Parts: sequence; C-alpha cells; structure tokens
Amino acid sequence: MKCHRHRERDAVGVCIACGKGLCAETCAQDSDPGLHCDEACVRRLRTRERAGASPPGGWGWSTLMVVLGAALLYYGYRYSEWTMSVPNLLGMLFLWYGVVLLLQRAASRTPKT
Ligand SMILES: [Zn+2]
Ligand SMILES: [Zn+2]
Repeated sequence: MKCHRHRERDAVGVCIACGKGLCAETCAQDSDPGLHCDEACVRRLRTRERAGASPPGGWGWSTLMVVLGAALLYYGYRYSEWTMSVPNLLGMLFLWYGVVLLLQRAASRTPKT
C-alpha cells in the first residue's frame, strides 16, 4: 500500500478513522487515539461514534413515555380504581417502555474501561 498523499512512498500504517495509507515521513500522526492522518479526520470519526452510540429516541422520547404512562395510570386510578381498564394497561405499558429506554441510555453513557 502507498501513502494517500505521497504516491511514491510506502505506507507504514493506515488511519484509524478513514483507513487511508500513511507514510512515516510526514503523514502518520502516531498519538492518541492511534495512527491517524490528521486531527480533523479523528474528530469526524468521534462525532460519528457519538451519534451512532445512542439508542433511538433520546432523552426527550423516553421521558415523554414515562410522563404519558404516569398520566394514564393516574387517569385510570382516578376514574376506575385499580381495575384492568384500558388506561391502566396503556399506562403500565408506556411507563415500562419509557423506563426501559431510560435504562438503556443510562447504560450506554457508562464509560468503557
Ligand atoms: Zn484519516
Ligand atoms: Zn505521505
């Protein structure tokens, strides 16, 4: 493999972000987080990782589910006591789903060691 910028030079490694060949003389930057072509390239990779790491929905969506579930449960309790009415069942479903989403997000925020 040849360097992506210098066709006459042999690549000593590839960028961890874009996978391009890098020559030892000028292109390879061997520092945190590894061999890479330039800072901008690594920044782009980190932005992509952040975007891809979060599960679908987001905080707003999961909080909405919990609030909606609590509201439906409250409504069901107020108007039909603790019977298996439609608002009660829907409320429990929303609340459960919202809590699961929140837990998933909390787990994904834990830094990897
Ligand atoms: Zn790169
Ligand atoms: Zn080069």
